Formats: sequence, structure tokens, C-alpha cells
Amino acid sequence: MNTNNSKIIYEKAKKAIPGGVNSPVRAFQSVDKEYPIFIKSGNESRLYDEDGNEYVDMIGSWGPMILGHNYPQVLEIVKKELENGTSFGLPTKKEVELAELVKSCFPSIEKLRLTTSGTEAAMASVRLARAFTGKNKIVKFEGCYHGHSDSLLVKAGSGFLTFAHQDSNGITEGVVKDTITLPFGDFEKLKETLESEKDIACVIIEPIPANMGLIETKKEYLEKIREITKKEKVVLIFDEVISGFRISLGGAQEVFGITPDLTVLGKIIGGGYPVGGFGGKKEIMDLISPVGNVYHAGTLSGNPISVAAGIETISILKKNTEIYENINTKTENLVNQINELIKKYSIPASVNHFGSLFTIFFSKEKVDTLEKAISSNAEFYSIYFDTMLKNGIIVPPSKYEAHFVSYVHNDKDMEKFLTGVEKTFEKISEK
Ligand code: PMP
Repeated sequence: MNTNNSKIIYEKAKKAIPGGVNSPVRAFQSVDKEYPIFIKSGNESRLYDEDGNEYVDMIGSWGPMILGHNYPQVLEIVKKELENGTSFGLPTKKEVELAELVKSCFPSIEKLRLTTSGTEAAMASVRLARAFTGKNKIVKFEGCYHGHSDSLLVKAGSGFLTFAHQDSNGITEGVVKDTITLPFGDFEKLKETLESEKDIACVIIEPIPANMGLIETKKEYLEKIREITKKEKVVLIFDEVISGFRISLGGAQEVFGITPDLTVLGKIIGGGYPVGGFGGKKEIMDLISPVGNVYHAGTLSGNPISVAAGIETISILKKNTEIYENINTKTENLVNQINELIKKYSIPASVNHFGSLFTIFFSKEKVDTLEKAISSNAEFYSIYFDTMLKNGIIVPPSKYEAHFVSYVHNDKDMEKFLTGVEKTFEKISEK
């Protein structure tokens, strides 16, 4: 596979952009760890790099591309919208339409604010929780990722975990002190903390954690969190940036039947264009300016192009709920076949999956905690990533991320993926 153009671009990139990339995990997406692949275009389930190589895309821009790249109806709407102008800094009717559409899928959201990224949405919802409760501290879970705002980066997941940051450089001690981090899945620790520390404004959680690799969630665990946060008058924030509109139309909260106070969204609600959003109870949301005193703003918040793509994407999902059945069944079949290959080659690996998300951990034991994710075999994962890339399949470059299956992945993609997995396992079993 010739990837020389990517190599040349990377040399230039390093001189113009820190690390040559605008988000750290992208640097890790490398051929023999030397340089990342630079993508020129995407169509349906495929990506094309600057050398013309074609790849099956198993990350889907980390979630938004549930309909694949350039889904015809979404593309058509965006093209039409472009002719109306691309940013006004003034309200548009479509923002109201998107808010109503999101509300219709998420009953817990009485009011919604749009942002440009998931990071901003999570940051603003924490600020809002502090203002609502008049309390200062927040609780987050180790290995969960909620974007890169200061307080939420403490013991974060995703790229933060991948690059093994021990501390949060540039973040004040005060901020770190106000962020209490607890192990995901350990309800007793949370209970003790909430009962002994009375200055906690909110608990923020990925109800389906996908940023330490995909980790199993138990409904009862989330139910107990809902119960205790209600009792202790602590705002419960579900970060559904990944799970919202992916796990089902109404996200993880619909699947588990749990109503958080606030929900953070992103990715799919912008149909692949820059967006984020947060919403919840009226009484909390109405504290936001200009109604209340909690400031939140954004020049590009509710950008017309993102909003148009989001409305179209959600409308397609809403009209065709069989899409969820399609992506979930495809994922389940794929995972079953990976499991058969694991058995055939006696590979110390296990697969976690939920809906259309899955992670392969090179660990014999089922991975259900951050510790187990960390101790899974990184060298084998790296062999997996390299082998897949060389065979024309882009998978997460790190074991701390999930694979995303889209509506347009077809049998050929799945076959190609499984052939790559088999080649990986052949290599690993020779070790
Ligand atoms: N929350 C979760 C659960 C995420 O997975 C991410 C990004 N992957 C974010 C928040 C941050 O979103 P963004 O990258 O749009 O800022």
C-alpha cells in the first residue's frame, strides 16, 4: 500500500500544526507509527486517502455518520441550505425545528440549547448544574470522557487516556479539587461520596461508556444513581454525545428507562457537521441567559448547515426505525463471527458490544472496568490496528475507543473486516 502522499503532508503538517493534527487521536492513526493517513474523501461506508487508497470506515467520525458518508438526502438538504447563506449570528426557524425534533425523541428534554461541540455542551451543563444547586463540586467517573473543558478532563477517557496523561497540565489545582473522580460501576463509593460530601452540584456520566473502550453498563447501577442523586438533590447529567440517537432514537435513557435531569448531545444531532447540545428540565434550562444568569453563547451555535443536516438525519432515523434493527443486527452478527475467530485461533480476546458499538479487548477476561481495559494487551491491539489498516480497514487506533457500524455497511464491508480480523489473529497466534 502506497501512502507516500500522507507522509509528505505529515511532514508539512508537523511544522504548521502541533503534532500535525487537530485532535490527538488522529496522530495515532498511523502506518508503522510513523505518520497518520490523511483522508481526502468519504462515501457511504468507505474512506479514501490522499494516495487514492480505499478503506472500510469502522469509526464513522467517532459516531455521527450513522447513515454513512454523503447520505444522499442529507447531502441534498445541505447543498440547498448552503445557497441560503451559512451563518447569520441571528436566530433561524430551523433551530426551533431541531429543538422540537430532539424533544420529541427525548422526553427528559423540555428545553434544548445548541452549541458547536460536545465539549461546550458538557461544560455548559456542569456550569448550569452548579448554578441550579448553588454547590461547587462535581462527580465524574474515571475513564469517562466529556470533552476537554478543564473540570471534565480530570481522569478523562478517550485520547486523554490513550496518551496516558497522569495529570491535567494547564488546569488549576482548584479545578482538580472540585472534580471528584470515582470508579465507574462502583455504586457504594458513589453513595458514600454523596452522603458525606454535601457540596456536590452534579454527577455526570456516560450511561454507556465508550471512551475507555466500550464498557458494559448495568441498568440497576444507573437506576441506583438516579435514586441517590434525586435523594441528595444532585443534578444527574447523562452525557449521550455518543449514545444519543445511536443506541435508539431516545438514547440510553430510553433503553434503560431512566430520566436524567440534563442530557448532553452531539455528533448525530448535527448529521456530521459541527454541533453539540444540552437540554433538560425547564426549571434548570431557564437559568440560562438571556432568561437567567448562567451565561452560555456561541457565534456558530445552531449553525444553519449543521442544523439542517441534523434535522434531516434525525428525521430519517425517526421515519425509518428499522435502521436501528439493521445496524444492531449487523453488529451482533459481526461480533458473533469475531467471537468464533477468537475461539478458532485461541486468542486471549473478548468483545464488548451494545447496539451498533463494539470494542475488541485483547484480554481473556471480560472487560467491565477501566482497570481491566488498561491491563488488556496493547501490543496485540496495535498489531490489530496495523494489520487492519494494511488490509484497507480503518478501526480505532486505540483500545480505548469503540467501533461504529453504520446503516450503509454492507456484506462486502463485513467480509473484508472479518478477513482483516482473521489475518490479525493469525499473526497474534504466531507470537
Ligand atoms: N462526550 C462524549 C461521551 C464524547 O464521546 C465526546 C467526544 N467523543 C464528547 C463529549 C466531546 O464532544 P466533541 O468532541 O464534539 O467536543
